[in-house]
Amino acid sequence: MSVRVDPAVITDLARYGGDTVSKCFNCGNCTAVCALTSQDSVFPRRYIRYIQMGLKRKMQESLDPWLCYYCGDCSDTCPRQAEPGKLMMAGRRWLISMYDWTGLSRLMYRWPAWEIGLLAAVAAVVLGLFTIPANFGFRLLAQHPEARRTVMLAFFAPKEVVHWGDIIMAAGLAALLLSNAARMTYYVMRNSAAVPLSAYLVELKELILHAMTQKRWRECKTDNSKHWLRHLALVTAYGTMFALVVVFLYWFQVEDASFHWTSLLGYYATLILLGATLWIARDRLAQRDQIHKHSDLADWLFVGLLFFTSLTGILLHLFRLLDQPMATYVMYLVHLMVAVPMLVVEVPFGKWSHLLYRPLALYLAAVQARARQPQVSEVKMAPTVPA
Ligand code: SF4
Ligand code: SF4
Repeated sequence: MSVRVDPAVITDLARYGGDTVSKCFNCGNCTAVCALTSQDSVFPRRYIRYIQMGLKRKMQESLDPWLCYYCGDCSDTCPRQAEPGKLMMAGRRWLISMYDWTGLSRLMYRWPAWEIGLLAAVAAVVLGLFTIPANFGFRLLAQHPEARRTVMLAFFAPKEVVHWGDIIMAAGLAALLLSNAARMTYYVMRNSAAVPLSAYLVELKELILHAMTQKRWRECKTDNSKHWLRHLALVTAYGTMFALVVVFLYWFQVEDASFHWTSLLGYYATLILLGATLWIARDRLAQRDQIHKHSDLADWLFVGLLFFTSLTGILLHLFRLLDQPMATYVMYLVHLMVAVPMLVVEVPFGKWSHLLYRPLALYLAAVQARARQPQVSEVKMAPTVPA
């Protein structure tokens, strides 16, 4: 098969943050120091070489950027300051835009105004939903004067309507993300020799394990315990919040503001989200660790949207406890105008998509490794070498 070279790849990758690729002279030092590299995946040097040579197809098929956790050991020791850790990060962004069939990821990463515009457009739709329909939001409230004297969410955001809205949103997000994951799988596996179904099934445990624990992060030489623990806590917090809002809304959005079992989970998720995002923002400003040295708009939006989602959630809860009806309704709307765009724009098209792509990459790497193992029958049939 002929190998297609695309010289535009280098300039294209610079738009994703990979502007140091030309400095690399392929000494291999980065791969030598990386604790996560292996014989099967000699990153980051190999991926950098693909970029330099314009091997776009190879870049699409590679899992290398997803196997990197950006500990920065390689960047610290690169003799050319090519910042291989940052190049892997740019590789991940580029891959996200390759997997996304809608093309929105590509627009968002290359032109930040697109990301802001999409977030604003979804926020405007949420605002419209609470102001235009007669049987919802502020127009429903106008029909019920008693709900203006005390907090009655049933006359502002009826649970049945919100619940169906949540379900439709979750189904749409899942469809987008899974279709992009299918494209990723196609790119990665298209050149593999026939992989038995059993390899896909046996390695499913890897997908679940890495999605739940991100445990490879701990294998980096640099002590990443802080980053790993913080990330794990964040995952549990937004997983909990998503479950409360989408699955357990009937128990979460209750009419009386007294303590319920869902309150405990809500407090846990909110406090973790608030604390962890503040902590990450501080680290990004300090720029001490490699992982926080190069923050672009997507990184700040990730932190900022999570922070304001939890802050508005706390204020909403406070106004409810104080029985301040208008403040509660307005904060409910503001909360959704932050949370819904964050989910709708960032999960399928932005940085959040790594929640699925990274464990999927580790799973596909395990499937490929299993498929390469000689079968028992092949081992038995192999001719013995005479002494
Ligand atoms: S990125 Fe740096 S360490 Fe890695 S191969 Fe290039 S020059 Fe060497
Ligand atoms: S940033 Fe860390 S994990 Fe990523 S390639 Fe460099 S050394 Fe390896």
